[in-house]
Amino acid sequence: MAIREVVHHGDPILTAGVRVVEEMTDEIRELIDDLIDTMRRGETPGVGLAAPQLGAPLAVVVAEPPPEYEGTEAVHNGAIVLVNPEIVYSSGHEVIEEGCLSCPGVTADVERPSSVIVKGLDRDMNEVKLEVEGALARIFQHEIDHLYGKFFFDYLNPIKRQLVKARIRRT
Ligand SMILES: [Zn+2]
Repeated sequence: MAIREVVHHGDPILTAGVRVVEEMTDEIRELIDDLIDTMRRGETPGVGLAAPQLGAPLAVVVAEPPPEYEGTEAVHNGAIVLVNPEIVYSSGHEVIEEGCLSCPGVTADVERPSSVIVKGLDRDMNEVKLEVEGALARIFQHEIDHLYGKFFFDYLNPIKRQLVKARIRRT
């Protein structure tokens, strides 16, 4: 496990798109370990991280499960690891303050669905399906967006979005 540098907003790797993982390799297992390590012990710890944020164009995300989800599927080293994740169902609405390790120091209230069902593969490439709500639903949506080059501020109205982007440029 190693801490890697988190890529910041403005770097083209964050909007370049990702490849699906067709086969688990030692290199991807190492990336997963480093995603978990960087999420927990990096310069700014967080609750989720996506592979492009470490400069890897692959469909892999990790999340720190809130206590009520600790025993869930897809856990490795206490973190949820999702390979090729896809949101297959979402419902409800909730406004939660979001930040992003690629946009340090900037947060905004973002409205998103409050519950989601996510399908994907775990670290051993077994199929998993997680039905989650609240904080974990929020983390999954935020991290899966990173695989599509999308940021939390893309959900704001144009005026708020400009304000947040201006703040990001100054940091
Ligand atoms: Zn983020």
